[in-house]
Amino acid sequence: MEEITGVLQDSTTPYSEFKKHVGEVVTIKGAIHNIRLMSDFAFILIRTARELIQCVYSTEFSDYRLTEDVVEQASAKVSGKVVTSETRDGSERYELQIHNIELLSVPAAIPPVVISKKQINCELSVNLDNRPVTLRNPKERAVFKLQEGIQRGFREYLQSQGFTEIHSPKINFAGAEGGTNVFKLDYFGKTVYLAQSPQLYKQALVPVYERVFEIAPVFRAEHHDTSRHLNEYISMDFEMGFIESFTDIMNMETGALKYIFELLKNEYAPEVELLKVEIPQITSIPCIRFKDAKELCVKKLKNITDMKDFEPDEEAFLGKWAKQQFNSDFLFVTHYLSKKRPFYTMDDPEDPEVTLSFDLLFRGIEITSGGQRIHDYNMQVEKMKRLGMNPEEFETYLMLHKYGAPPHGGLGLGLERLTMHLLGFKNVRYATMFPRDINRVSP
Ligand code: ATP
Ligand code: MG
Repeated sequence: MEEITGVLQDSTTPYSEFKKHVGEVVTIKGAIHNIRLMSDFAFILIRTARELIQCVYSTEFSDYRLTEDVVEQASAKVSGKVVTSETRDGSERYELQIHNIELLSVPAAIPPVVISKKQINCELSVNLDNRPVTLRNPKERAVFKLQEGIQRGFREYLQSQGFTEIHSPKINFAGAEGGTNVFKLDYFGKTVYLAQSPQLYKQALVPVYERVFEIAPVFRAEHHDTSRHLNEYISMDFEMGFIESFTDIMNMETGALKYIFELLKNEYAPEVELLKVEIPQITSIPCIRFKDAKELCVKKLKNITDMKDFEPDEEAFLGKWAKQQFNSDFLFVTHYLSKKRPFYTMDDPEDPEVTLSFDLLFRGIEITSGGQRIHDYNMQVEKMKRLGMNPEEFETYLMLHKYGAPPHGGLGLGLERLTMHLLGFKNVRYATMFPRDINRVSP
């Protein structure tokens, strides 16, 4: 009987090892990305998980002859001799002189969008309609490889700081923060809601693990079609107990961002290079109080009507201001008005009109909201009543406070928002693999 040992038999050679095999015949597996036929030879690009490997076909190299079914998007096993190739910048590249192509599968049709060019050249909606195919383009897929790096960095950094990864339920009896932007669902005849944040659960886990984090989808019934809102996005959340001040949370986030950007530089260099990403340099992040930031906006911008929050043009202005004043791509804005923050936010004991909260702006757009939460039972019940909420509806949430919780706080960071601004996209959909918006639930 055959036994499964957990060891894969793989006879292929990864591109990273080509250097050791110059002059030898190796085998690779991949998709035929592009074929350029010349009179008596051909360049065939093989797309592997992360590279494009140049292969050269010529009758001089072997008895193998190209057949008609060697077409773009076919899956193939290619063997050939590794040779060094010339590059314009003098860097070392390797290519294969083809000895044989074994086709593993042949496509039934030509892709609806050209994907073998340097970049996809079609409208965003066409790109999104054909996502399973357009994501094969090296630049498109590099976006999501980098996105993987961001969440990996977030996870690795928090794990190194003693955080426990959690998964909170996404189907809930009550909407976490209520409001108009929760999706309702019929649940065996009862109305339930899709989670718009893991807020109440991550707080509940602070007395259990002290520090917790979650990277998971959240759902927001955003009624407008904007370039920065999705109806389902990945929220990177953490919550930490025994904080001395809400600045502990900002320090933790700053540490995480530094780690993430180093990781991208070191382990995602091919994608960083391909997409020409400007990785931000962080030594420290400047902070400004909401009130002071608002004063700056009022001085510089006209027609400010909302004194309680920022409009997008104010955030953009503050982003530019932080760059000019501190050469920083990031800016923490702190002490938002109590009226504008959720019920669980801790008010500043020195001025209850404002909260111990913050937003982080990256290149002039909000990517994070966070702050200290109320841990005292009576204080939380009072605040709920003041806001016209019924504490009885939050009985299980309030167990956290009732049975003792340490001072704590946390944040939520939108993965697609961060990716979007890191890559300089004008629309968050470019940073979303399969976006869900008011007009799109497919593919
Ligand atoms: P905004 O004011 O931009 O609508 P928000 O203040 O309502 O966002 P929060 O509840 O503070 O959002 O969410 C925390 C983070 O999650 C935001 O800073 C942002 O990065 C991200 N985020 C929020 N809503 C969305 C959305 N609809 N689509 C994508 N990302 C979002
Ligand atoms: Mg916010």
